[in-house]
Amino acid sequence: MELCRIGIVGCTGRMGRMLLAETLATKGALLAGGVDRLTPGETCDLGELAGGKTLGILAGDDARTLFDSVDVVIDFTVPAASVEHAKLAAETGKGLVIGTTGLDAEQTRAVESAAQRAAILWAPNMSLGVNLLLGLVEQVARSLGDDWDIEIVEMHHRHKIDAPSGTALGLGRAAAMGRGVVLDDVSVRSRDGYTGPRKEGTIGFATLRGGDVVGDHTVVFAGEAERIELTHKATDRRIFARGALRAALWTKGRVAGLYGIKDVLGL
Ligand code: NAD
Repeated sequence: MELCRIGIVGCTGRMGRMLLAETLATKGALLAGGVDRLTPGETCDLGELAGGKTLGILAGDDARTLFDSVDVVIDFTVPAASVEHAKLAAETGKGLVIGTTGLDAEQTRAVESAAQRAAILWAPNMSLGVNLLLGLVEQVARSLGDDWDIEIVEMHHRHKIDAPSGTALGLGRAAAMGRGVVLDDVSVRSRDGYTGPRKEGTIGFATLRGGDVVGDHTVVFAGEAERIELTHKATDRRIFARGALRAALWTKGRVAGLYGIKDVLGL
């Protein structure tokens, strides 16, 4: 079987290191390189970054060179960088898996536009459980009337820099889709002070940050005298790296388009 040459951008980051280790452990994958924003003179061996033995492959700082030498790039960085990497995917025709969250509307459009020229798989959450939850939330929202209030609660570790999480927003979009509305028209992203009573049909978000929580999401459907709560808890970030590797192998050689993890899972 021909190996899939994989490059990791953001390879010194928390997810980046895990992706390096997962690439090395995945059958059919070949770790071909890694890139991050390095300080002048800084050298990082990819094997050591992965927590293993020295490989003799050093992290670089030129994403273009990485794209030229791999089949698929995996990117867990920051929104502005992911947009640049999407443009490089479009220029080189190489596959790209993006796990970065927190992209604004303009950045999202830039990724969508790049996906007209390259296979780009973008998932704010690469876990199987969350992707199943998305389907369940849409189904429950479709079955229940507007008199059931929908609230989404998420908690992540203290280092997370965007809120609500990309997954929470994805769950909100799934609930809105089930109701036949657009999330941006009904979402309440935070509450503070004298807010007045809750407006029917809105979808609320609440964000908690602290400790080393990998990612907890609960969608609450609150009706009169009863409540349904759908919860997913991630206890190890490895599930995201494993999902990203599966996605990368799937993305290699695909025609241009914007894909999601549901495509990989055949959901
Ligand atoms: P982190 O801060 O530890 O790592 C980000 C890395 O990106 C850093 O090493 C940084 O130097 C690097 N970087 C920034 N700009 C760059 C550029 N222009 N070129 C190359 N590298 C660059 O963050 P993290 O915890 O690893 O998370 C990264 C992203 O992944 C976040 O958006 C987070 O929300 C997301 N995430 C997604 C999933 C998922 O399943 N999709 C899971 C976990 C985290």
